[in-house]
Amino acid sequence: MKIVVMGAGIVGANVAFRLAEGGAKVTVVEAGRVGDGTSARSFAWTNAHRKTPRAYYDLNIGGMLAHRALRDRFPQGGWWHDAGTVEWAAPGEDRDVFTDRVERLRDWGYAAEIIDHARLREIEPDIDAAAVAGAPIGFFSDEGWVDPVLIAHTLLREAVRLGVTLLTEQGPARLVIRGGKAVGVACAAGDIAADFVVNCTGCWSNSVTDEKRLHVPLAPTTGMLAYTAPVAANLRTVVMAAQCHMRADGAGRLVIRQDHYDRTVLPHTPVETALREADKLVAIAAEVVPSIGKATAEAVRIGVRALPADGKPAIGPIGELAGYYVAVTHSGVTLAPFLGQLIADEILAGRKRDELAPFRPDRFHQENAPAAVAWRED
Ligand SMILES: Cc1cc2nc3c(=O)[nH]c(=O)nc-3n(C[C@H](O)[C@H](O)[C@H](O)COP(=O)(O)OP(=O)(O)OC[C@H]3O[C@@H](n4cnc5c(N)ncnc54)[C@H](O)[C@@H]3O)c2cc1C
Repeated sequence: MKIVVMGAGIVGANVAFRLAEGGAKVTVVEAGRVGDGTSARSFAWTNAHRKTPRAYYDLNIGGMLAHRALRDRFPQGGWWHDAGTVEWAAPGEDRDVFTDRVERLRDWGYAAEIIDHARLREIEPDIDAAAVAGAPIGFFSDEGWVDPVLIAHTLLREAVRLGVTLLTEQGPARLVIRGGKAVGVACAAGDIAADFVVNCTGCWSNSVTDEKRLHVPLAPTTGMLAYTAPVAANLRTVVMAAQCHMRADGAGRLVIRQDHYDRTVLPHTPVETALREADKLVAIAAEVVPSIGKATAEAVRIGVRALPADGKPAIGPIGELAGYYVAVTHSGVTLAPFLGQLIADEILAGRKRDELAPFRPDRFHQENAPAAVAWRED
């Protein structure tokens, strides 16, 4: 089967790799560089932490397990950081709500526990206990973070070895429909014919065609990530502090985010303006990790979340167009390795995977289409 995968982010790379392993003749068509979309602007925390309902939690657990298997398969990959997450309740946040969530996660079989200050000091000695105050502290040992661009690159390098054609710097490719069927894509390299087209272009997924029945309603939001210069702070875990979220980002740098600061930027906010906001975010992080000192932001990245309007993934055929499949999702870093396996199985073996049943894109085109929800970092 000849298949075109549009988009070489973490989702497209996983899909192309699994399709190639399954014997398909795959061409990946990428508008720009490998991994240079939202995947390069992600906090990249792998977790199922606040994921509800149960089907969405299970899908994310599938992602976490698939990440471990991928790490074992590519031990030289260097993208895997699995020391867990520490989190504490925000001031004013109900202690019971926090501890109930930890309890519920344990009931669902998740590695979740309440820890004391002494244990926090063992796990993250650079965190100032005063920043935690009397809040309950959670530790989630199976979570971690990854380098999404390294994953996309490694999988596509392997895919090319398996015979995949990788076309980058193509500009925005367009879906070609003929005789009521998707028959390929048009891009800078020309028309690429295919039996099947998989759209993995994330927040750009509706721009490949003007046909409204093929669109997934999106509610994209902007996210800002502040990167410090190398600092004397050795964070091993993802730190979900009440003040901000942060983790290491290699070579002594930290990456920091917070909901409020997401709202201070837009996708095209000038770098100098965004850096001023990022400096404030670094100062907030220094309240939690004092050894950050007076460091400022060395870089800032602004990403757009590929967010279907109800906040859940949209994975599958859409608009009754034969030969066409869409995969657009937030939490795509956590989910991508599992989605790659599920999607390849659906397309190559023709199986309908139960795991994806609640997340079909056509839910948006039915009479009782889900309403958009306010977005929350998860
Ligand atoms: C600030 C922020 C924090 C996040 N934190 C987390 C987190 O902690 N954990 C988590 O799991 N997820 C997180 N996410 C979400 C996650 O990063 C995304 O869900 C994921 O990166 C989406 O990957 P993708 O491959 O679908 O999209 P992308 O990485 O955007 O890839 C799509 C690719 O398609 C290409 N493209 C676009 N249009 C076309 C076209 N017409 N033709 C060909 N190619 C095209 C683009 O150039 C791009 O390379 C976060 C996102 C943001 C913005």
